[in-house]
Amino acid sequence: MQQRFKRIAIKVGSNVLTKKDGTLDFTRMSAIVDQISELHKSGVEVVLISSGAVAAGKNKVLADTLDAVSQRQLFSAIGQVKLINRYYMLFRDNGITCGQVLTTKESFHTRQHYLNQRNCMQVMIENGIIPIVNENDTISLTELMFTDNDELSGLVATMIDAQALIILSNIDGIFNGNPADPESQVIRKVLPGERDLSQYLQTSKSSLGRGGMQSKMGIASKVADEGVEVIIANGKRDNIILDLLDDSKDIVCTRFLPDEQVSSVKKWIAHSEGFCKGEIKIDNGAEKAIIADERCSILPIGIKSVSGSFEKGDIVSVVSENGVQIALGKTDYSSAEATEMIGKKGEKPIIHCDYLYVL
Ligand code: GLU
Repeated sequence: MQQRFKRIAIKVGSNVLTKKDGTLDFTRMSAIVDQISELHKSGVEVVLISSGAVAAGKNKVLADTLDAVSQRQLFSAIGQVKLINRYYMLFRDNGITCGQVLTTKESFHTRQHYLNQRNCMQVMIENGIIPIVNENDTISLTELMFTDNDELSGLVATMIDAQALIILSNIDGIFNGNPADPESQVIRKVLPGERDLSQYLQTSKSSLGRGGMQSKMGIASKVADEGVEVIIANGKRDNIILDLLDDSKDIVCTRFLPDEQVSSVKKWIAHSEGFCKGEIKIDNGAEKAIIADERCSILPIGIKSVSGSFEKGDIVSVVSENGVQIALGKTDYSSAEATEMIGKKGEKPIIHCDYLYVL
């Protein structure tokens, strides 16, 4: 079959990979691996983002004696081994080598770490190895954690320049009402500029993983706005991955149709909000200019104030005169230098347009 995508990221949630009793569902894992293997053999490059470590490592006796943080650390340490060991055997049965990439939110922070990770996955893909990514839950705690693996999958998809991201959970997609209500239907297509589906969403979260539909919607919108097609579908359905990629089949799922491609560096900036070191407030004229024309940079003359303490190369938030965040950018000056330059004419940009991501 001719494949529409050359490179895809597939995220599989804990609820897909585990049975009702919380143990790993080997039959499901095997079916998922078989489908990925088939794609791989047809020339599609796949990166798998797999949850399930904490769920697979759960132990009732220990759960009663440990606090929540220690439980997560211990269960993920035990469970990640079980998870990757099973993947290793299943891929091996298909004649394919897989490799493990464990990461942390911090590793997406500096451009150098980001590029190191990208290079690692690139070299794996080029050598026919399927990267299996998960958060390093043993050391990622509290505010250092990704919101969930949906966030991680978005970062990975944009980092590796995937054309599509498939997010598999135990529900068919985003419904236009309560999924339990027979009247509710899955929203099939979400177009650029029409991404806010919050009116339809329930607040309930995944019972095993940390994610939920709210977070999936946020990530899917952001990633699709950067030019990646995002598909939210039910990983419990047989043959779901291959069916989703078969254009002759009309599979129930929610597809976020992609906007225009954004450059690699802008994708990194777009996902760096949590790492902002400071804030640059710009005047109304500068705001209009950067919104109207993507070739506009932030010049000293349009700056009203600078706050926070940042160095050249750090990510900063760009806000309007009334404090609304409008962009993120990589600054070319430290906060001290930028402050000196406020309002000056004829100076070089504080943030060059190539490093400015307008929200
Ligand atoms: N990294 C976690 C695990 O493997 C899952 C996080 C999530 O549920 O999104 O267990």
